[in-house]
Amino acid sequence: MRNYKIAVIPGDGIGTEVLAAGIDVLHALARNGDFAISPQQLPWSSDQYLHLGHYIPDGGLERLKTFDAIFFGAVGSEKVPDHVSLWGLRLPICQGFDQYANVRPARVLPGVTSPLTNGKDIDWVVIRENSEGEYAGNGGRVHRGLPIEVATETSVFTRRGVERIHRFSFELARKRPRKHLTLVTKSNAQRHGMVMWDEIFYEVAKEYPDVTTRRELVDAMTTRMVLKPATIDVMVATNLHADILSDLAAALSGSLGIAPTANLNPEREFPSMFEPIHGSAFDIAGKGIANPIATFWTAAMMLEHLGEAKAAARLMKAIETVTAAKVHTPDLGGTATTKQVTQAVIAAL
Ligand code: ATP
Ligand code: MG
Repeated sequence: MRNYKIAVIPGDGIGTEVLAAGIDVLHALARNGDFAISPQQLPWSSDQYLHLGHYIPDGGLERLKTFDAIFFGAVGSEKVPDHVSLWGLRLPICQGFDQYANVRPARVLPGVTSPLTNGKDIDWVVIRENSEGEYAGNGGRVHRGLPIEVATETSVFTRRGVERIHRFSFELARKRPRKHLTLVTKSNAQRHGMVMWDEIFYEVAKEYPDVTTRRELVDAMTTRMVLKPATIDVMVATNLHADILSDLAAALSGSLGIAPTANLNPEREFPSMFEPIHGSAFDIAGKGIANPIATFWTAAMMLEHLGEAKAAARLMKAIETVTAAKVHTPDLGGTATTKQVTQAVIAAL
């Protein structure tokens, strides 16, 4: 029987509440499954940062490397600027472990209402390039406060980085029934990196004749997502563009509270990291009403990655039983608590 070592980083705000629920559900799955999990809690958070001055302690990444997967909650606090917390905890893990493929499925679960009348047509995977592009951290700021102040924020695209995310996207699209992949760029206005994205996409496409493709500009893609959701299957976009498109996808599928993410190192040289899309949501933290479904779906993605496809499918079925029965937290229009949703999913298992 395989025993998976899972690093658990709850982080801030509702991250701690939904991850606790996620671990309960994983234990319940393991109890009547044929695998075991050994979660280990790492208290890397904004509170720790405010006390000790760091998010990740010395040697932290080396330690993380020994785990089979990382289960992550959220990072973000009113007491720490967002760019400090993001660059303090989440991005060092994504970049240190070369988790270059960020995968975000979006689907309207049974019993959940989409803001779109044709929301049932949403069955998408948004793939976000997660290692370079607009969030490469390249740039500078000079002459602070003076009238001549200048800041630059330079996107970085490498042939290696672009080619591997396209290949990953074709591989994933090929495994889905519709085998369709939309390339999303902005190559009419950004004529260097975006044109390179387009060119490399069509180079890689030659190796995947079974996958049909479409090219869309990112602005047009937002309207396609709203007006013609059935015409989309898998989409691939840059770090910034897919960040925005995946929030839109999450909202269209009912709530940020149900949307999961995987940050994958597809070569499995390093552990991959699994997290709900939503942040620390301090407006509802401590109230016990955070929707744990995003975290449960995230756990299913983690199990799938670990090779436990049967357990992942069982968990998805339990999640859908509970959403269909309208055991919903307030973000979905219900009155259930985090605990009640968690207990309902465990009962369904
Ligand atoms: P961060 O800066 O860490 O991204 P944020 O303050 O931007 O956090 P998010 O967590 O991204 O906030 O979510 C935005 C809003 O969506 C929250 O204020 C909250 O009301 C709602 N929300 C997010 N996640 C959930 C959830 N799991 N359950 C219920 N509501 C949620
Ligand atoms: Mg946010």
